[in-house]
Parts: sequence; structure tokens; C-alpha cells
Amino acid sequence: MRPIEHYFRFLTDFGQPKYRATQIIEAVCKKGIIDYDNIKVLPLNLRQELKKKLPLLSLKPKKSVISQDGKTEKILFSLSDGLTIEAVLMEFEDGRHSICLSCQTGCVLGCRFCATGTLVKMRSLEAEEIFDQVVFLNSRLKAKDASLEITNIVYMGMGEPFNNYQNVIDSIRMLCSSKYFGFSPRRITISTAGIIPGIERLALEQLPVNLAVSLHAADQQLRCQIMPIAKAYPLESLLSAVKKYSQATGRRVSFEYIMLKNVNDSERDAEKLASIAKDKLLHVNLIPYNDTGLNSLGGSDLSRIRSFKLALQKKGVNVTVRTSLGGDIAAACGQLANI
Ligand code: SAH
Ligand code: SF4
Repeated sequence: MRPIEHYFRFLTDFGQPKYRATQIIEAVCKKGIIDYDNIKVLPLNLRQELKKKLPLLSLKPKKSVISQDGKTEKILFSLSDGLTIEAVLMEFEDGRHSICLSCQTGCVLGCRFCATGTLVKMRSLEAEEIFDQVVFLNSRLKAKDASLEITNIVYMGMGEPFNNYQNVIDSIRMLCSSKYFGFSPRRITISTAGIIPGIERLALEQLPVNLAVSLHAADQQLRCQIMPIAKAYPLESLLSAVKKYSQATGRRVSFEYIMLKNVNDSERDAEKLASIAKDKLLHVNLIPYNDTGLNSLGGSDLSRIRSFKLALQKKGVNVTVRTSLGGDIAAACGQLANI
């Protein structure tokens, strides 16, 4: 949906009071209504005019897939130019409702383990297109139960947030504004493959979101093999950017680390990782690999993940293992590829 100022202009031109804009935004953000017809407080002729001239959503849901356990829903959206993206709504055991947003229609970074990286039709999303994924998923949640709220938002869908920096930040500012969702930035996480200038810019934003850095290897050579972007932003420089970021903001940074069988999951890898992640302002999130069918990469066994975790803990690293949802509908991390 458009920012409130846009509605103000439209309403003035249509000879309507400004408070109608607040009514529209309240209906959308608080009640989860996503079509003007159902905003009954608006006069009928205004609803019709809005429908014609100011479409409420900048994207259209094309397809929805729900996982077998009913806890994950993946939505495929088409954008105004016909390109498509996916977003995911997840319900966790502890009652949290988390959503995963896309910020680009593909990704040029081509990490070897990620399906999004194989999509060639690439463009960055506008802030409105990112925001509208939330609008739509919020409406899905409210349709289940009007009292439910989105508790966490992660920028971990398709694309690299720091390759679309300004639109990502604009969408977050809009989500957090009390005019719209009034969402807490502390419940928002941006995940980056390690674009250093983005980390440096974020440190200056006064925006207390969580930063997650996709590390996946604690060794420059290995990292380059699985993440080509590591050549441009070497591990050592990345680590010092992360350190500066957490010192400047006082915020904890998490390292994401996909567990790849016989690639990055040995005792020696655990030692290397511990040596760079042993810091109270750092946290390691081990991610079980979600199969993408792309290449010969495979995930570490559960027992290996457990002992890797233990090895890190013994060295004093804050470490958790990510619960992955939606694997059966290709909605898990790295599986988003418009299927
Ligand atoms: N481009 C950003 C954000 C999107 S990817 C980034 O790379 O951080 C979100 C997360 O999913 C990243 O940590 C990414 O490394 C991880 N991921 C990608 N492919 C995966 C796969 N096949 N299995 C598990 N996690 C994967
Ligand atoms: Fe792009 Fe992130 Fe996928 Fe790498 S993991 S290709 S950076 S979306």
C-alpha cells in the first residue's frame, strides 16, 4: 500500500477529509482487510474510486501452498511487471508467528547451496512491494484468528537485502512507524551474505534491528568456494566490520552457518569457527541444510550437527540450531525459487 501522504493527496483531490486515510490504514494494518470493498466505514463512492485509481496492493497472490503440518504457508506473488517472488508465514511451537520476506526477484550472488541464486530474472523490489508482503501475510493470519499478530519478521527470503539497501530500510521504517504496524525493530532481522558497505551503513541508521551474517565457513578459501561474494568481501574484513558494528550499536550479531556434510562440519571447522565467534556480542545459528536439488552438496547428519554444536559450546560460543519449517513445500531457507 502507498504511504499515508499519497492517500492524503488522493482524498483531498476527491474532496474527502484526511481522516479517511487513517481509517484505510487502520483497516489494513490492524484488522488485516486487504480490499477497499470491506472497509465499510468508507463511503461507497470513495471505495469505488479508490479501487479504480489506487490499487491497495502492489502485488497479487498467485498461489498458496500449505505444509502438511499446517504450520507453514508459502505464497507466490506476481508483481506489476509479471515477475514473481515468494514469502512465507510460519507458526512456531512457542506460539510465535514469523514471516520471511523477499527483497529481490532473484539473487546475483550465486551461493552454491541456494536455489534463489539460480534465478536469472533479477530486479530489486520497491519498498512498497516488500511492505505489501507483510500486509498480505498479516491478512492471512487475521483470517485464521483475528487476535493473532505477526511477532517476527525476517529478511531472509529471495535476494540480498544489502543489494537493495534503501528500499529494505524504507520498508522497515514504514513497518515500524506507528502510523502503520508500529512493529518493533527488535523483532526484525536482516540477513546478509556479508556485503560490508551495507553493514557499515546499517550501523549509522539508528535502527535497532537484528543483523544476521551468512558466514557458512570460518576459512576464507572454503568460503570463496561456496559463496563467490567472499572474494569481494574477504572473511577478515567482514569480521572486523561485524566487530565494529556490534561495538558501535551494542547489538549482538548472529552468524548463520549451514551444516554441509564433509564441507564445513569437521572438528577442525568447529575450532576455526569458535576462534572467530567466541564473543559475547556474537551468536552462531547452525542451519540444517535444506535440499535444493542443485548440486552434490548434502546436509550434515543430525548427530554431526549435535557434536559440532557441543564443540562450539565447550569453547564458550553462544550457539543454537535453527528449527526449519516448510521443507515439504520448498519454503525453507534457500529453497525459494518460484516453484
Ligand atoms: N541473501 C541473504 C538473505 C537471504 S538467504 C543471505 O544470504 O543472508 C537467507 C538464509 O538462508 C541465509 O543464511 C542463507 O545462507 C540461507 N540458505 C540459503 N540456502 C540454504 C539452504 N539450501 N539450506 C539452508 N539455508 C540456506
Ligand atoms: Fe543470494 Fe542469500 Fe541465496 Fe546467497 S544465500 S544466493 S546471497 S539469497
